[in-house]
Amino acid sequence: MRKAIDIHCHFNKFDTMPDRYTVHLIGNQFPFAEKHLTETCIKNKSLVNHILFKSVPVISKKFKYLDRLINSLRVGNFWGKDGVLHTLVSHGEYMIRRDYMAAKHGSKRHDVVAYTPLMMDFITAGNIEELRREHGAMPFLLQVYEHAVMSRYYPWQVFPFFHFHPEREGVVSLMKQAVEEQGFVGIKIYPAMGFYPDPADPRHTDEKVRKNLVALYGYIREMAGKGIILPITTHAQYSATQAVDLEMHETREFTDIANWKRVVRDYDLKINFGHYGGMDFLRDPNDPKHERAREFSLACREHIQGLMRELNNGKKRVFADCSAHSPMDDNSEAYIRQVDLDLRDEKLLLMYGTDLPVVTVNTLNNDYIRAYDSGITGEKAKDRFFMSNALAFLFEDGKIPRLRTDFLKQAYGGNGVGPDPADVSKVSWVKPDGQGGFRVDPKYL
Ligand SMILES: [Zn+2]
Repeated sequence: MRKAIDIHCHFNKFDTMPDRYTVHLIGNQFPFAEKHLTETCIKNKSLVNHILFKSVPVISKKFKYLDRLINSLRVGNFWGKDGVLHTLVSHGEYMIRRDYMAAKHGSKRHDVVAYTPLMMDFITAGNIEELRREHGAMPFLLQVYEHAVMSRYYPWQVFPFFHFHPEREGVVSLMKQAVEEQGFVGIKIYPAMGFYPDPADPRHTDEKVRKNLVALYGYIREMAGKGIILPITTHAQYSATQAVDLEMHETREFTDIANWKRVVRDYDLKINFGHYGGMDFLRDPNDPKHERAREFSLACREHIQGLMRELNNGKKRVFADCSAHSPMDDNSEAYIRQVDLDLRDEKLLLMYGTDLPVVTVNTLNNDYIRAYDSGITGEKAKDRFFMSNALAFLFEDGKIPRLRTDFLKQAYGGNGVGPDPADVSKVSWVKPDGQGGFRVDPKYL
């Protein structure tokens, strides 16, 4: 059974995002539906299903699991033990259990041993300071709490990343609390929502954003001094669904990987460029419609690979995940061939990721893993891609950070829920380090 780590996914349902964003997201995926959908009707699942399925008769063929995706994003029991996330962690698919049983075909040949859910902060998507239930969204603090609960419930399978949006009031102390007390192991940053990641960038116009970024990197440096490396995942491809308030040319400007170069070097950041620049570099060079997307995607990859070749010298610092590519896509085979070629260069630290729940629209995670598994040649390259690069990204030198194990021990002291985190006998990649802590099994490093 192929073991895999999903380094890029999201624990999001409709209640986690403002209705305005949901309309935008569905519109991005299915442009024909956008004109029929409103923020009011998005609250009504049967109406959404009705519009999506009745307006274009072929949709259920093209988007095989769309109905299941919508079910799983609406269902009340999402975070709980028998909810969607339980099916995800135990079976690898983003579905409610009933839908999973119905969709299952063949036997499961893959085992996703760990997930890294990246939080999403919709602060600008809602255009309001603090989103609340009446805006159709779950408050940010509740989202943090639910991620912490999941990570405690699945001590060696769920490793959340805190979304650091520099416009959020109090974001620095929220981040410190998430890392030091709530089991978060990394930071998610999404510059495409309207800021430059480098605080020294002269284009900054908002002093609060600049100050918060200084505090973020200062904290990362301070923690590194204590032996705790906080990895960052950022968005790195042409499309930017979370950037609901911006035009495409603006999101391109903020996403530009060149914006990261100085800050990655100066702060010795450990960083994952999500989506590895995207698949658009494969578009037809003679098609003027896609010229910008193609050029942007190519430039992203060049910058990412340049940083990898420069900084992954002895140390492992710059990574990229190959998420959000469906095996149903026309360019998928060519993309996986390219990933296979890139993996031959050991400085190009590529990782498996899905961007679930987004890819659930037309394929199962099982098929997604299988496509990469059959396209990548050689056991060593597969091991790096599916497991060891992700473990090296999450855990410096294989050490599970003390803060994380303290969080688990505390959570389980007395009234904790779920299995004892000290019992790692069933976890294939974790070993006790002999000093009361835990480490990655050296065979994966
Ligand atoms: Zn994502």
